[in-house]
Amino acid sequence: MSKIIGIDLGTTNCCAAIVEGSAVKLIPYKGGEFIIPSIFAIDDKGNELIGHEAKRQWQLNPRNTVYAAKRLVGRSFSSDVVELMKKTVAYELKPGERNDVVLDVGHKNFRLAEISAKILNKIRVVAQDYLGEKVTRAVVTVPAYFTDRQRQAVKDAGKMIQLEVVRIINEPTAAALAYGIGKNLHETVVIYDLGGGTFDVSIIEIRDRVFEVKATGGDIFLGGLDFDQAMIEYVLRDFAENHGIDLSSDPVAMQRIKDLAERVKIDLSSREQAPFSVPFVTMTPQGQPLNIEFTFTRAMLEEITGDLIDRTVDILMRVMNDASLDPKRVDELLLVGGQTRMPAVQKRLTEIFGKTPSKGVHPDEAVAIGAALYANSLEDNSNLRLQLLDVIPMAIGLEKAGGAFHTVFPRNAPIPNARAVEATTSYDGQTEVAMRIFQGDNPHVLHNELLGDFLFSGLKPGPAGKARLEITFNVNIEGILTMSARDPDTGKQMKTTVRVTQH
Ligand code: AMP
Repeated sequence: MSKIIGIDLGTTNCCAAIVEGSAVKLIPYKGGEFIIPSIFAIDDKGNELIGHEAKRQWQLNPRNTVYAAKRLVGRSFSSDVVELMKKTVAYELKPGERNDVVLDVGHKNFRLAEISAKILNKIRVVAQDYLGEKVTRAVVTVPAYFTDRQRQAVKDAGKMIQLEVVRIINEPTAAALAYGIGKNLHETVVIYDLGGGTFDVSIIEIRDRVFEVKATGGDIFLGGLDFDQAMIEYVLRDFAENHGIDLSSDPVAMQRIKDLAERVKIDLSSREQAPFSVPFVTMTPQGQPLNIEFTFTRAMLEEITGDLIDRTVDILMRVMNDASLDPKRVDELLLVGGQTRMPAVQKRLTEIFGKTPSKGVHPDEAVAIGAALYANSLEDNSNLRLQLLDVIPMAIGLEKAGGAFHTVFPRNAPIPNARAVEATTSYDGQTEVAMRIFQGDNPHVLHNELLGDFLFSGLKPGPAGKARLEITFNVNIEGILTMSARDPDTGKQMKTTVRVTQH
């Protein structure tokens, strides 16, 4: 049996690692890089490109280059999130058969799980080249704030390429493993993870080999890409004011601005100012070439992205509150994700916690390393027994009359977990009960994510309100939900059918 590798399947970048002997190693790609961009493209000859190859041609082929697809995984086409994505990406989003999202790339339709599968497969091939053996099993990390449906989608992506996703673990939990394994720690750590596309925060109590998540929260629509977007909007506004030309409908100009925005943003983490220059970005109606040419300062960047940092702090404070934890009682603050290199982020957190963030983990590598360490502990011959006690990030519950949300598991409920709910019939002779299950923290189901529409059949016909059935909600260690129902009088299991799921 081949070894289990750890994969950090990020919104912007992926990274894989493996334990070899007693050391954990990042898996290098050709040329020694450890990171593979999470980008998929089809070029004009119809070739599929993934990773660095896709990123290299992005500027020239924005229409058929897919990035940040992870933000769309497990989303309904009609959701606000999808509306927002449509405005910021150059590739085309279409409705799928189940109100999911399908991407049109190179005149072909791709489901999101297929795109994830292609990226996962690329990582697998790179790992196989490095290890010289087949890779068939992996521990894959996801944002702590992923719903059940989004976790299922990652499992499905693995199935498509015969890669068994042995376990899904949360990104901040993986980072805590990378930080804490083998140190015999007894401390409470906060993991603040601001990556390319998502923000996660978890509070974890480490007791040697036990990693217990106390509370978690996040926003899978908040990350480095939004910092880039704030800069792009600033540049577009400035250009429109100076030249009266709106560049937002010119895909090639947009791609050049986007690329530069990220580079300048990264530069401004280590210097106070940097040139923002895009020569010959467009032409006047008279055929005169126009350039973008000005200096971006760190102060400007901080001003236009201050609201994004505020949003992370609001979530952080809510999670601290959920865990009834005072910031001054936190032993360590771990920063994960490339965007935490921004000095303003570090300054703000230092003020809140009254201490500087730990240097104990590498912001880009910790998640993959944690996944590999966990993968290693799952091997049959491992003598390292780790206990991960995680929580669900948002409440799971069912729809009541009038669209009200009835909570079955509150947010931060520990997993694995099972709860039973009693139900009955509402009309005479009823033999089936339908139930819609949602995940989210809103009191109205409309604003939460639909996980599935279940039908329990085989009830004994009788007068309304007489028949009873006991429905069990089971959330496994990975945060994935399964449902079952039984007749509490006879103990007989009933038939459970999922009528609609959108993954
Ligand atoms: P990750 O998903 O952890 O790889 O994070 C990638 C994000 O971090 C991207 O949005 C990058 O632009 C951003 N990033 C990487 N390095 C820096 C840096 N030095 N300063 C600010 N942002 C950075």
